[in-house]
Formats: sequence, structure tokens, C-alpha cells
Amino acid sequence: MRSRLLDRLSEHRFDALVAGGGVNGAAAAAALAAAGASVALVERGDFAGLTSQQSSNLVWGGIKYLQSYELRLVRSLCKSRNDLIRAFPTRIRATAFLGVIDKDAPLGRHVVGAGAGLYWILGGGRTAVPRVYGPRRAAVLEPLIAMPGLRGAVQYHDARLVDGDARFVWDFIATASANGAVAVNYVEVQDAERTPLGWRVGLLDRRGEDRIELVADVIVNAAGPLAAQLSEVLGVPTRHRLVLSKGVHLVVPRLMSEDRVVAMFDDDNRPFYVVPMYDRSMIGTTNTRVENPNVRVEAEDRDFLLAQVNRRLALSEPLTADDVIAERAGVRPLVVPENGRTDETDWLSLSRRHHVEVDLAHRVVSILGGKLTDCVNVGNTVREHVSALGVQLRYGNKWYGEDDGLTRGAVERLAREVLPDREGTRNAGLVDALWRRQGEKSLQVVTAWQQDPANAEELFPGTQLTRAELRLMAKLELVVSLEDLLRRRTLLSQIRSAEEPRTDPATMELASMVDPGAAQAAVEELLA
Ligand SMILES: Cc1cc2nc3c(=O)[nH]c(=O)nc-3n(C[C@H](O)[C@H](O)[C@H](O)COP(=O)(O)OP(=O)(O)OC[C@H]3O[C@@H](n4cnc5c(N)ncnc54)[C@H](O)[C@@H]3O)c2cc1C
Repeated sequence: MRSRLLDRLSEHRFDALVAGGGVNGAAAAAALAAAGASVALVERGDFAGLTSQQSSNLVWGGIKYLQSYELRLVRSLCKSRNDLIRAFPTRIRATAFLGVIDKDAPLGRHVVGAGAGLYWILGGGRTAVPRVYGPRRAAVLEPLIAMPGLRGAVQYHDARLVDGDARFVWDFIATASANGAVAVNYVEVQDAERTPLGWRVGLLDRRGEDRIELVADVIVNAAGPLAAQLSEVLGVPTRHRLVLSKGVHLVVPRLMSEDRVVAMFDDDNRPFYVVPMYDRSMIGTTNTRVENPNVRVEAEDRDFLLAQVNRRLALSEPLTADDVIAERAGVRPLVVPENGRTDETDWLSLSRRHHVEVDLAHRVVSILGGKLTDCVNVGNTVREHVSALGVQLRYGNKWYGEDDGLTRGAVERLAREVLPDREGTRNAGLVDALWRRQGEKSLQVVTAWQQDPANAEELFPGTQLTRAELRLMAKLELVVSLEDLLRRRTLLSQIRSAEEPRTDPATMELASMVDPGAAQAAVEELLA
């Protein structure tokens, strides 16, 4: 499948080349392809392999930006959040957030409550009404926050990506591809030249080491934190600049039983969260200014986050580094306004707003900054700019959202027939999870369950990922390496301890699904 796509890259002249397959590139490609543009998207690693796999998995209006009075940003993020919840009713889950006001919190519960009320209004009243709780009621609601000095809690609602950020990016890649875009991972833009025919772009297939040449009318720079490097390759500098803020998360055994996010203030008075991730909890995040986008979790990051949780939650045993199942580290690209200075700026106060710049002469559209939650706004804005550059587009086609659910009834009926001896709720959970990830393709999976009961087994028990679904992913989701499947199409390597799935025999089977000839080598690489 991938080699066919590689061939197509050089066979066509594209209206637009999107460089970068994080959330912004994927959304831009989906928006353009649905509007009838011929689109190529290339990603130098795997889709979502840089920033877009390191987020807090939250789809939110950014309540914390009320503190910096960014009401317009909050309003537009809330609108985007509402659109996304409507468009992805199963993949994005409306979630309660419990904001804990402990003895050191910089704001009292009534101030936070008033902020949550304003947030609710800015969000158009589309979520449940916020509530303010006194300390006793708050402690009953969430026993783990019952610490000396608790002053109360405020509950408000946002949403989260149930199967994680990278899978959400894959949804846009899949929609773009379904609308004719040629989206390929492990292909890097290496050089580019503006010619009378359009952009002539030199690409490197980083798996086969082949060079490919592509011609495109417009380039969309969606390189995230690497946008400046890409604009140098294009010879078209952007007016805005980026500074990078590192953020870290730790995945630990599930702390709270409720499917709710707990928000607290850390020692620096910045909010941090405990977010549910299947049967685990994800703790984060941090803010450290860095120069290089290739970051990893350092001991001090880990110690900081563990200390924050241990200080604020009534855990039976304090969490230690041994409890950490997986870690995430990424950089937020923050936009410095035109003529703004990066050296002396109070970089923490930089807006999280995205900017889309257009260079009319060179026909380059650059996406800078933003949030996962902002992806619909980004896609729409890129589409408007590309249209303004003269590319013929037609509007009105849906470019994001889940399948309509036409086959859901059939999937459920068939699942009931083929999984008769399993407990009803477990079956329902399995089918819900399958539908959430695969939509109409679920029918193929359930048909495989029918053909052989072994296909309905969870390869890693408790993960609701059956053998047949994993096989479908390996076949249809441009999975090139085992890591693509373990970390981005699924969250297996984030929710199972560092040893499993590395040492689990099922991993060898998974590796064979990806590449039967190189399964042993893939598992050894994972273990190394
Ligand atoms: C710790 C943290 C927590 C966050 N939490 C949230 C959250 O909860 N909710 C939310 O809405 N947002 C959140 N964000 C923000 C969000 O994750 C980012 O804004 C978003 O993922 C950026 O997407 P992007 O597509 O711009 O960049 P990226 O995801 O980095 O994508 C850019 C891609 O371009 C590719 N690329 C670069 N150069 C080339 C080239 N020459 N050729 C081909 N490809 C190239 C890169 O490999 C990369 O994959 C968080 C960010 C961080 C760091």
C-alpha cells in the first residue's frame, strides 16, 4: 500500500503539498481533500510522531487562559471543542473536571467557581453547569483529595480523546485519504525550488532511502516545532517565530476510580492534571523552555510530577519512579508575535493561539502554534487561504467526524451471535471500543470474529483490542514499524508496563502482522 502511494507522489502535479503529519497537517489535508483539491501529505516520521502524540489528550476550551484574560482564545477553543464533541460522539468523551482548591491554591473556590461560570458561558452553555463544593462534599466526591487544608472543589466539564491524540490524528489522515489525498509517512521534504510550473520538491523516503520528486502548486508548512527549519528549506521565512515549551506526562496505575479529570495547582501555581487513560492515569504536565524539539523525560521532571501528586493526594503509598508505566515528553510550539522578542519575553505568558501565515508570492501557507482542540479552525483557515491563492475548491463537504453509524446495528447483532458465551457488559464494551476506533470498518472485524473465534481474542487481555482489529490496523493503517502500532494506532505501549508488551509473546505475533519477515528483528529492536 505504501509503495503504491510513493509512486503516486511523483506521478501527479498536486494542488497542495502538506509537509507534516501532526494534527495540523492532517486536518489541513482533510479539509483540502474534502473540498476537491488534489493533496499530498508527507510526514518525516510516523503520523503524529512528534508533538501530536505527547499531549494531555484533552479537548478543551483552555479554562486556564482566563487567568491571562484571553477571552477570544477561550471562546474559539470552546467552540472548536463543542464542534468536535458533536462530530466525534464516541471518540471524544465529555468529561467532568474536578478543580481542587487545597490550602496552597492561589485562588479561592468562589473565584474559581466564578471563572468556571464564565467559562461555561463562553462555551455557549453546551456542557453541564459547573458546581462549587465545600471541603466536606468535595472529599466525598473524590476521597483521594481529602487532605488537610482542603478548601473545596469546583466541577466543570470539558472533553478528552478516549483513544489518545495520535489515533485522533490518524482519523484525519484516513479521512483525507478517503477523499483522494496521498498521505505517506516516513517521507521527508529535503529541498524545494519554486519554478514556473510550481514547487518542485525533493523528498526522501526514509525507509527505502529513495529520492522522490513531486510538483505542487502550494505548499502548506505544517512542520509544528520544525516550522522554522522547513521554512529555511523553502527559502520562505515566516514573520512569526516560535519558542518551545517542554511538557512531560507520566502514566501510572489508575489513581481514581471515577472517569473524571482531577485538576490541581502545582508548587509553581500552575494547573496540572490527573487524566484517565483506559485503566491508567496520566499525570502532567510541566513547562520548561527548551531550544531543541527532541526532548525526553529527565529525572527532575519525573521527580517534580511525582512530588506534586504525592503532596496533594491521599494515596495509600506515595508514588515512586517504579510506579511509572510510561512517559511522554513533547514541546509546545508557542508563537511570538511579529516584532516580539524571544529572549526577554515572558514566554510562559505567550498565547496558545495559532497563526496561519500566507506568502502570496511564493504560494506557501504556514501553520504556527495551536492546540489539538484548534484543529478544525486550522483546517478551515488553511482551506480559505488556499482558495484565495486561486486553487478551485468546493465547499460543503464534511471533512471531519465519525461515520454515520449505518452498520452499527449489524455490527452489534453479529457480535452478539459470535460472542454468545461472554458476559453481556464485556461484549458491549468490546463492541463499543471497536466501533469507536473503526466505525464502519468494524463490520470487517466482526466478520473475522465470526470466521474464527480466535480472531475475537484480546491479544493483550483487558485492552479491548482483538486479534482481528490489530490485524486490520496493521494492514490498512500505514503501519510501518511495530512502534507505530504499539504507540500511535493504539496506546498499548503507554498502558502496559515497560516489560509487557515488550516481553509478551503476543508482541511477536503483532510484529508478524506488521512485517512477517522482520518480526524477530522488530521485537529485538523494541527490547534494546
Ligand atoms: C505536553 C503537551 C500537552 C499538550 N496538551 C494538549 C491538550 O491536552 N489539548 C490540546 O488541544 N493541545 C495540547 N497540546 C498542544 C498540541 O499537542 C500541539 O499544539 C499539536 O500537537 C501541534 O501539532 P502540529 O501538527 O502543529 O505539530 P506536530 O505534531 O509536531 O507535527 C508536525 C510534524 O511535521 C513533521 N515534519 C517536520 N519537518 C518535516 C519535513 N521536512 N518533512 C516532512 N515532515 C516534517 C514532524 O515530523 C511532525 O510530525 C499539548 C502539547 C504538549 C507539548
